[in-house]
Amino acid sequence: MFDSYGRRINYLRISVTDLCNLRCKYCMPEKGIKKIPYEEILTLEEIQSIAESFVELGTDKIRITGGEPLVKRGILNLIEGIGKLDKVKDFAMTTNATLLYKYAEDLKKAGLKRVNISMDTLDRKKYGDITRRGDLQDVLKGIEAAKKAGLTPIKINVVLIKGFNEDEIESFVNLTRYEDIDVRFIELMPIGSLRYWSLNNYISNDIVLKKVEELQEVSASDISSPAKYYRLPEGKGKVGLINPISCKFCENCNRMRLTIDGKIKPCLHSNEEIDLKTPLRQGKNIKKIIETVILNKPKEHNLEDGNYISRDMMDIGG
Ligand code: SAM
Ligand code: SF4
Repeated sequence: MFDSYGRRINYLRISVTDLCNLRCKYCMPEKGIKKIPYEEILTLEEIQSIAESFVELGTDKIRITGGEPLVKRGILNLIEGIGKLDKVKDFAMTTNATLLYKYAEDLKKAGLKRVNISMDTLDRKKYGDITRRGDLQDVLKGIEAAKKAGLTPIKINVVLIKGFNEDEIESFVNLTRYEDIDVRFIELMPIGSLRYWSLNNYISNDIVLKKVEELQEVSASDISSPAKYYRLPEGKGKVGLINPISCKFCENCNRMRLTIDGKIKPCLHSNEEIDLKTPLRQGKNIKKIIETVILNKPKEHNLEDGNYISRDMMDIGG
């Protein structure tokens, strides 16, 4: 389905939980977050039903995210349910991968096609520091398990953090030299209760191109991707730069987000949310509502004015 600006809206990102086994400093406060009451959270069956309505309206790309999707009880059932929808051509998950070594094979069998893995450092001690509790060895095991299970192509998300991981840019880029893995550097976004942490630790992605001068721009295979892609000469994988603040990709935005409490967010950087849970629980026709939301998707976001959104990242899923 197309919105009123002629954009084809075919991508749904679903946050399945606000819980996480890590506490990344830019995403989750040390003590965790104030929990949304259980009854406010969509059940797996409700998520499935909403996903099906989106698919009937032309969505063919779905991403499961969170919080950490692999801590959600029953996640494999949801993956299996969505995996059965023939019209979904691209079915992916964003995960911190610390539990992936246990789940990779079952996820693949259930119909998941690929994973994006968040890993902001290649140093075990620094990983423990930024995540406040994670073990990098688990992530590395998870990456191997994903390769073995065929959850590919794998993309690695690296949030750039001032004074923390600029010195590892070359090492991350090198991961793309011999393997078909994409590494994507993401600028910190000021979102939710940790927005000032992000503003204080922000560095622009430009630093990647300054540090690795050999990178050559490659033409975009998917214009709706927020990443601008580069490659090392003869590199197997690509290096992506995602600049949500310094560079807008609104013109080609094709996505909708579903929050854990059943709200659709037509734009990540806007506080506008449309409730689907109540009408769904009242047995109303949610397809009609989704159609209207798609039609009214805003043209663009405006972060330069300090209009940062108040919801936390794990409710929305990034
Ligand atoms: N727990 C999973 C993970 O870490 O991959 C999925 C959810 S996490 C919210 C999704 C993505 O958002 C991760 O790649 C994470 O690094 C990114 N993220 C979280 N907070 C962010 C922020 N303030 N700015 C930029 N990216 C952020
Ligand atoms: Fe958890 Fe992902 Fe947020 Fe880190 S970025 S705290 S892994 S939800």
